[in-house]
Amino acid sequence: MDVEQVAQLDSKDMGFSVWKALAARVAFHLERPDVKGLVITHGTDTLEETAFFLQSVLKPTKPVVLTCAMRPATALVPDGPQNLSDAVAVARHTDAQGVVVVCAGQVHCADDVTKVHTYRLDAFDSGDAGPLGCVEEGAVRLFRPWPLALAAGYVDASIHARVQASLALPRVVMLTSHADMDGLMVEALLAQSDSGAAQPLRGIVVAGTGNGTLHKDLEAALLKAQAQGIRVVLTSRCIRGRVLTHLGQRLSEVSGLSPVKSRIALALALLAD
Ligand code: ASP
Repeated sequence: MDVEQVAQLDSKDMGFSVWKALAARVAFHLERPDVKGLVITHGTDTLEETAFFLQSVLKPTKPVVLTCAMRPATALVPDGPQNLSDAVAVARHTDAQGVVVVCAGQVHCADDVTKVHTYRLDAFDSGDAGPLGCVEEGAVRLFRPWPLALAAGYVDASIHARVQASLALPRVVMLTSHADMDGLMVEALLAQSDSGAAQPLRGIVVAGTGNGTLHKDLEAALLKAQAQGIRVVLTSRCIRGRVLTHLGQRLSEVSGLSPVKSRIALALALLAD
């Protein structure tokens, strides 16, 4: 077993530069014929974003298993060692492929997993899809197929090459609709982008209420942004379900992913443009 440290940070501070370095090292190891799979330890706070980024960029035919700990190593009963052992079991599974997350005995797909609890050991949930499987006494029990991987090769070379050639992801911000929301934040973003003071704004992901409904003032500002060429993607702030196209919906782009994953998906799509 080889061990390598790519970064050491509180995952709340995760960003593109670390993702880019991580994707490069993951791709490097996946290409090695003697490597069956990878296990990555990661803080829980942005774990789902890193998992989604790696799956979107690499779509590996070998397993890349992210795991974590909710308790510190100094706790009376830490959870990290068991999670790590379970993650290794998943990485060694005969048919394993794609990026998955292992925590508290459950295996989650990168596309579905979300951190849903601030404190509990089983802090992750896969929403309507449910977990991919579980690990019991070191044995993996699957509930559904492994995530989609490319038919050939260990990684998707085309998106990965664009990531490695970029200094930053196109700027996509995330906003939430709520009671008393207005359009001021969107107006400020447009003004700042026009001033050239920041990286140009390319996209906005908006977490709407319920089935993607928006406060009318926010919606008006978003339509203005869209008219100026900013890609605006509608998601929901509900932790379960996906936005279904509905009567009266004025923004055309809808995503079934969570808002944070939609931000990554839109930024990667803009990178490909
Ligand atoms: N702050 C930690 C993080 O990096 C929390 C954790 O590991 O659970 O996400």
